[in-house]
Amino acid sequence: MEIKYFDAHTHAHFPAYGDEKESVIQRAVDMGVGIITVGTSKSTSAEAVLLAEKYENMWAAIGLYPGHTVPSARDEDEYGISEKKDIIPAEPFDYESFKKLAESKKVVAVGECGLDLSYGEIEIQKVEFIKQIEFANEIERPLMIHCRDLYKELAKLLEVHGTKKSPVIHSFRGTIEEAKIFLDLGCYFTFGGVITFPPKKNGVVYADVINEIPIQYLLSETDAPWVAPVPYRGKRNEPAYVVEVVKKLAEIKNVSVETMREQILENTKNAFGIKF
Ligand SMILES: [Zn+2]
Repeated sequence: MEIKYFDAHTHAHFPAYGDEKESVIQRAVDMGVGIITVGTSKSTSAEAVLLAEKYENMWAAIGLYPGHTVPSARDEDEYGISEKKDIIPAEPFDYESFKKLAESKKVVAVGECGLDLSYGEIEIQKVEFIKQIEFANEIERPLMIHCRDLYKELAKLLEVHGTKKSPVIHSFRGTIEEAKIFLDLGCYFTFGGVITFPPKKNGVVYADVINEIPIQYLLSETDAPWVAPVPYRGKRNEPAYVVEVVKKLAEIKNVSVETMREQILENTKNAFGIKF
């Protein structure tokens, strides 16, 4: 298939899709959407690799989500419905298991990993993230970073530990000043459905931040099954909807959809070393 669009951060392997998984992926194939399906723990990373091995248009990211470095409430979209207790225990980064998963040629990034203020236990999160910075450097893949409200701490860790490949910051929510710090560190930025929503009062004005980022550092994502873009807002999200994100990025950057689409493909190849 010819890849025309790219969803650089999605969770196509999650139980949220139930027995519709194949039709969801087929819709992406029909639209020419390439996909990086992203793991959040040892088990969901293994599932991401398994699915990516099955589809020509799919690659995988493997890593430990900051929310899983501490005990967390079960998310049924992520772990499926269960009779068992609804708390997922804390998981330390299991180097040996991830190292084994990374033998797959389909593994193109380490993540989603990072720091998130809402989960607390920041010191534990940092320890597990540093392990993954080192792992990404060892296997020479970029980091796929999730960060909420701890951008200063994130920048410091990236600076101190160094990154062999330019990191990718997923669903960036920082300020223009913070974006500049990460540009200096060579980072790429992915944006998803939220940029199609009207700006919140006192919230991030995505258009302003995106305008400050050179077009060569922009990537598109859905973070499906969550945060569907307009006109699907409120519905279950899926990779095919990334087309709406690309349209919005083109509008903000004041270029044609065609120019933005092709630029994003180029950026995706550069960021992840994917050939298509
Ligand atoms: Zn995600």
